[in-house]
Amino acid sequence: MKKYKFLDLKYVNESFEEELKEAACNVISSGRYILGENVTLLEKDIAEICQTRYAIAVSNGLDALRLILRAYIEMGEFKEGDEVIVAANTYVATVLAISDNNLIPVFAEPSPETMNLDLHNIEQYITDRTCAVMPVHLYGSTCWDETLLKLPGLYNLKVIEDNAQAIGACSHVPGLFNTHATGGLGHAGALSFYPTKNLGSLGDAGAVVTNDGKLAETVYALRNYGSDYRYHNVYRGWNCRMDEIQAAILRVKIPYLQKENIRRNKLARIYNEKILNTSIKKPIVSEHQASQVWHQYVIRSPYRDRLRKYLSENGVETDVSYPTPPHLQPCYKTYKNKKLPITQSICNEVVSLPISSLTTENDAVEISEIINRFKY
Ligand SMILES: *Cc1c(COP(=O)(O)O)cnc(C)c1O
Repeated sequence: MKKYKFLDLKYVNESFEEELKEAACNVISSGRYILGENVTLLEKDIAEICQTRYAIAVSNGLDALRLILRAYIEMGEFKEGDEVIVAANTYVATVLAISDNNLIPVFAEPSPETMNLDLHNIEQYITDRTCAVMPVHLYGSTCWDETLLKLPGLYNLKVIEDNAQAIGACSHVPGLFNTHATGGLGHAGALSFYPTKNLGSLGDAGAVVTNDGKLAETVYALRNYGSDYRYHNVYRGWNCRMDEIQAAILRVKIPYLQKENIRRNKLARIYNEKILNTSIKKPIVSEHQASQVWHQYVIRSPYRDRLRKYLSENGVETDVSYPTPPHLQPCYKTYKNKKLPITQSICNEVVSLPISSLTTENDAVEISEIINRFKY
């Protein structure tokens, strides 16, 4: 029986193997391993992709989020105990960044359509302690509209994008800008280059992007022991630097990112057209989305577990992002009685189909046909 793998990182990186080896070897023989020219050049590339003035390369996506929140605390914009509104169906890292800074996560229900933060119903979560809203561009699908442009002025809050899954995506907001890359839409954005992401490193890596010079300066210092110049510490900072090797690896892969995103769009279009089983809900995207990068292609079924078993028996590997929402994790047990029915039903119903560089257009047609034969 033919197998349809969900993801194979060895395969993903094989096509860049020669270039990756050369890039790594150049770092090895350069003698410069931390905060060298690869990091600086990568920061230029990332700022260009996200259409921001600044990009700061950091250790991983969680640290990128932690650094943004901590920087706003150091700048006096946020204080401990302030509230951050976040989509309840996000990956746990978004919430960890909030609680790690002694800020309070306020779990907001996503839209049952787009599965992203429901921006039409967001104002109900705002209190006089709200310091930020954190939209997550989940699965590579943009979470943005004019509400997020209006809220900061109305309520004195920051909009911080978790762009870990959506590098290269664009949003459209009528009357304001034609299209703009995610990450650079709000006050600050966090990126992850975890190996499974659309732009994946060969280890941990991430970035902070912003147009705010003061924020950038604070994050630069915080990622490097809180030091503004050598042996001078303005903050009790962290070590959240990105390695030169990871930066060099990412610089090899950046020129291929757009092609990869276009390929994913083709596969998504095939799934959208070919999946006709009426028990399956296909992805619905925001009307403001200009382009999506399909980090995941996520369908929903009330018979999710039976569907996964059936797909597995037919050679199709799938994944679930995420089976348990953060507020039901043991580490957040104080929130366990919160009623978040939309979040809960999304977590019970989602299945991710193969859409990596391993999946061919023909695979997507065949997987769709297998799904169409599913009887619950
Ligand atoms: C991957 C991811 C993160 C964390 O990134 P790491 O680099 O793994 O720390 C945060 N938020 C979301 C939505 C993610 O998908």
